[in-house]
Amino acid sequence: QAKTAGRGLVRFFDPDTQARIEARLHLENDLRQAIAGEQLRLFYQLQVDGQGRACGAEVLLRWQHPQRGMVSPGEFIPLAEASDLILPIGLWVLQGACQQLHAWAQQPHLAALSIAVNVSAKQFRQPDFVQQVCQAIATSGAPAQRLKLELTESVVLEEVENTIEKMAQLRALGVRFSMDDFGTGYSSLQYLKRLPLDQLKIEQGFVRDITNDSNDAAIVQTIIAMGRSLGLEVIAEGVETPAQHAFLSTHGCDLFQGYLFAKPQPIDQAERLLQAWHSHHDTKINYSI
Ligand code: C2E
Ligand code: MG
Ligand code: MG
Ligand code: MG
Repeated sequence: QAKTAGRGLVRFFDPDTQARIEARLHLENDLRQAIAGEQLRLFYQLQVDGQGRACGAEVLLRWQHPQRGMVSPGEFIPLAEASDLILPIGLWVLQGACQQLHAWAQQPHLAALSIAVNVSAKQFRQPDFVQQVCQAIATSGAPAQRLKLELTESVVLEEVENTIEKMAQLRALGVRFSMDDFGTGYSSLQYLKRLPLDQLKIEQGFVRDITNDSNDAAIVQTIIAMGRSLGLEVIAEGVETPAQHAFLSTHGCDLFQGYLFAKPQPIDQAERLLQAWHSHHDTKINYSI
C-alpha cells in the first residue's frame, strides 16, 4: 500500500520494510564479493554408524563476513538461491568436497568415509548439472562412490521424470543420493519408490522431541520402517542427546548426525576428531558434549 510522505514524496513501503530490502540488497552485494574474496568456508559435520564409528561427513557452508562475522547458511542460502549466486557457490562446494574426498582416499583410515553435499533445486535443475558433477569428480580424482548428494523433496518432486533421469546418470558413475529433511515436504510414496535413492535423512525437527512427543516418536518410527522396507539407509540429523540416540537406535536407524557426536567444524578440526576416534579404535565413541 502506497503511503504519501510529506512534500508529495511517495513511499511504497513502511520504513521497516524499506530497511529490510536495503539490508537484503546490501547482503546480496556482499555475497557476490564473498565468492571472489574467498570468505566462504566449508565446515564438516561427522556422521556415525550403529557401532559409533565415523562413516562420513556432511559439508556445510559458512560465510566469514568481514564485518558481521560468521553468517549462517539459513540467512544467505535463500538469498543465494533467489539471485542465482547459488550456482557458482554450489559448484564451489561440490569441487571442494571432491578435493577433500580425494585427499581422504589417500589415507587408509579415512578412505572409507563419504562426503554429503547439499544441492539446491536451482543447481540441480541446470541442464549441465550432471556434467558439472562428472567434471568435479574427474578433475579432483575423487572416488565417485564416496560422494553423496543431498536433495530435498521439493527438488525431487518438480519434474520427476527429469529428476530420475539425472539421478540415474549420476548413479551410473557411482554417486549416491540422500533425501534431506525427509518428512517436511510432500513426497508421495508413489514417487519415493521410483526414485533411485540410497538414503533417507530424517528432518531434525522430528528428532528434537522424539522422547517426549508421542506423535514425533510415531512419525520417526514410521520413517525408519518405511526407509528400511524400501531398502534405503536411514540417517537421523540433529541428534543432541543420548536418549534421542537410544530411541533412534532401538527403532533401527542406521546412522546418526548431530551435536551429540560432533558439531560442524573446519576440516583440520574434523580430521583431529577423526584421528582421536580412530586411536580409541573400536571403543564406543566418546560423546563430545
Ligand atoms: P541441512 O542440510 O538440513 O543441514 C543440517 C543443519 O542442522 C545444519 O545447519 C547443521 O549445522 C545443523 N545441525 C547439525 N547437528 C545439529 C544438532 O545436533 N542440533 C541442531 N539444532 N542443529 C544441528 P546449517 O549448517 O546452519 O545449515 C542450514 C541449512 O543450509 C542446511 O540444512 C542446508 O539446507 C543449507 N546449506 C548448508 N550448506 C549448504 C550448501 O553448501 N549448499 C546448499 N544448497 N545448501 C546448504
Ligand atoms: Mg543437508
Ligand atoms: Mg537436513
Ligand atoms: Mg534440516
